[in-house]
Amino acid sequence: MKLYEKTAHELHELLTSKKISALELTKDLFSRIDEKETEIGAYLEITKTQALETAKLVDEKISRGEKISALEGIPCAIKDNICTKGIKTTCASKILENFVPPYDATVMKKLYAQNLIILGKLNMDEFAMGGSTENSAYHVTKNPHDLSRVPGGSSGGSAAAVAAGEAIFTLGSDTGGSIRQPASFCGVVGMKPTYGRVSRYGLVAFASSLDQIGPLTKDVTDCATVLNAICGLDEMDSTSTPAAVPDFTKSLISDVKNLKIGLPKEYFASGMDKEVEDAVIEATEIYEKLGAQIVEISLPHTEFAISTYYIIAPAEAATNLERYDGVSYGARVDGADIVEMMTNTRTEKFGEEVKRRIMIGNYALSAGYYDAYYLKALKVRTLIQKDFTDAFKNVDIILTPTTPNAAFKIGEMINDPLKMYLQDICTVPLNLAGLPGISIPCGFTSEKLPIGFQLIGKALDEETIIRAAFTYEQNKG
Ligand code: GLN
Repeated sequence: MKLYEKTAHELHELLTSKKISALELTKDLFSRIDEKETEIGAYLEITKTQALETAKLVDEKISRGEKISALEGIPCAIKDNICTKGIKTTCASKILENFVPPYDATVMKKLYAQNLIILGKLNMDEFAMGGSTENSAYHVTKNPHDLSRVPGGSSGGSAAAVAAGEAIFTLGSDTGGSIRQPASFCGVVGMKPTYGRVSRYGLVAFASSLDQIGPLTKDVTDCATVLNAICGLDEMDSTSTPAAVPDFTKSLISDVKNLKIGLPKEYFASGMDKEVEDAVIEATEIYEKLGAQIVEISLPHTEFAISTYYIIAPAEAATNLERYDGVSYGARVDGADIVEMMTNTRTEKFGEEVKRRIMIGNYALSAGYYDAYYLKALKVRTLIQKDFTDAFKNVDIILTPTTPNAAFKIGEMINDPLKMYLQDICTVPLNLAGLPGISIPCGFTSEKLPIGFQLIGKALDEETIIRAAFTYEQNKG
């Protein structure tokens, strides 16, 4: 097995036993990137000099006989909406084409503190709006399993990089499914932690009440290890939770005996691909064999989740994106006066989808429509949250497909935004409710495209998710 194919925990063993050096490992990743990048296009920026320097630092530490942490010296890459001091952070937008943040996001500080090796910044849908990476202002990322298909989005670069061996793990962000859906499309593990678990300080805001950073990894063990590294209260983010952070690797236990798993009937509705449905049902059968109890449940307001999300997310986005006015933030396109300058800047530098969201958001927030749309959406959001609270009185965890179908073709949905939005049906309810969720690979379609299922946990109960996901991974055969 090649080094780039290995997991972080395997590589940690090799590093501590001095079978490989961090420099050798990092160079191996860069040669893999050289080999794959032209066909995949996962990256927007490569940070080779910095990466090689860190690798040398880790090697010196090891040769001095010092202990290294679980992720020290592991090469990873970062979605391009997470601020990196001195490294361009574009959000795959032309409006931030030259933006070099003067500070690091809190997650970056945490990774640097452990000497992780940052390979570069990853492609995404512009400002994380989309589900295919086709909305990047720079290029489309391809799905490593089939180059004619999308890797999912918006963290498409993050998922494709892991699947193609161009990074050992990556960080993505998830506002309505952007970690879980690409993880599912690319056959990797992707987790959105509970809202507030990971600091959003330095994550360029899309929809602040929904956004959450999380890991994309090759297996559940790496997922737990990365969570350990990035979770925790942060005084720079007033929405980060003071809840204690457990050692998530303690939940890597293969045991689901008596675990009550709920299957919401609304998530298995018509319109789902038969092969996806079969693979997900097969996963539930494995759980049943291992002693879990499968219970049918109902989340009755699921049918309103898409409409609710596509009011709330654009409303928050329209507000967050007001700052890109050609004055204080981002690029500027000149005009005869300030109004023309702002108009030119935003017209030229924002992509189609971003403009669509700004228009929907401002419409929903405007006088006369606020009550009918935004306020109504907030009320329905509460009902969706209540559905989960009620369901979790009877079950420990909820199992659903991650997406209604496997990866679609590049270009297939780009001109039909509504169809693209409907793809998010299984993932957006969790963001509306602030709950944690993971996508786990569970097989392939007849066209050899990865399929994933989703586990949803109670708020702050990532531990049960990790235990259940790990159990599946160990027993899937
Ligand atoms: N596909 C969803 C959207 O376009 C989710 C995006 C995300 O989670 N960032 O808004």
